[in-house]
Amino acid sequence: MDYRRGEMIYEGKAKRLYRVQDHPEWILQEFKDSLTAFNALKKGEFENKGRINRDITSLVFRFLKGKGIPSHRVADVGANEMVTEKLEMLKVEVVVRNVLAGSTAKKFAIEEGTPLEKPLTEFYYKEDKLADPFISDEQALMLKVVNTQGELDQLKRLALEVNKGLIEFFESVGLKLVDFKIEFGRRASDGAIVLADEITPDSCRLWDKKTGEKMDKDRFRRDLGNVKETYEEVCERLRQTWEKKV
Ligand code: ADP
Ligand code: UDP
Repeated sequence: MDYRRGEMIYEGKAKRLYRVQDHPEWILQEFKDSLTAFNALKKGEFENKGRINRDITSLVFRFLKGKGIPSHRVADVGANEMVTEKLEMLKVEVVVRNVLAGSTAKKFAIEEGTPLEKPLTEFYYKEDKLADPFISDEQALMLKVVNTQGELDQLKRLALEVNKGLIEFFESVGLKLVDFKIEFGRRASDGAIVLADEITPDSCRLWDKKTGEKMDKDRFRRDLGNVKETYEEVCERLRQTWEKKV
């Protein structure tokens, strides 16, 4: 199918969004080569990053679809673009943790790498001006990120199902899923909540199971080097294992 790119409607830190001509129900997402951290205070880029993150997101969403978890993905286009359903994004980032790292490890002064007895779900208010603060369930309802406690429970349930799928997906290529962030949007036609945005080494912490090496955006955040090579390695492992199976 031929998707004709219309006007640009949004440029974010990692993607540009365009209309799709003759299809108001879809958008085209172009994955950029840029890399940002600490609410865009730190900026970088590398060649082919957009292609890698599009390819990884595509493999993840195809795999999850096979597990009965639908997403916004419609089709991949060109080297670094994806046509998706156009959704009204919920102003919440849902984080799931299997191992403590990053902000929550720091907040409670617990050593990074401490495993959790059961996965932890957390909500953050998606608002760059406020640097995406942590919010409680009641704050989420006060801020109207969703309409009801039932919908918040649905987000947690979906996030835990995604977690189960992703653990298996990354485990199969020798990577431990430490934590990740996902976003959801609402479909205008029926109000359904749909998994959206991207799932990539920008939005997950992945540690090599053999070496313990960090294989995600922490290489950029913490100046660990080999950022490009690491993203390429993750993408290559996933392609080899999953490209023909999903
Ligand atoms: P940011 O906005 O944080 O800089 P990006 O550069 O990744 O992040 O921009 C992509 C934007 O598109 C995000 O705001 C994300 O919430 C939004 N988005 C993701 N999927 C969809 C979708 N299916 N429909 C509408 N917006 C989406
Ligand atoms: N994350 C993300 N976008 C954000 C914040 C976090 O994709 O705006 C991801 C991050 O890559 C990690 C997980 O969510 O995989 C948990 O992040 P954390 O809260 O530990 O924040 P950080 O330490 O990255 O600031």
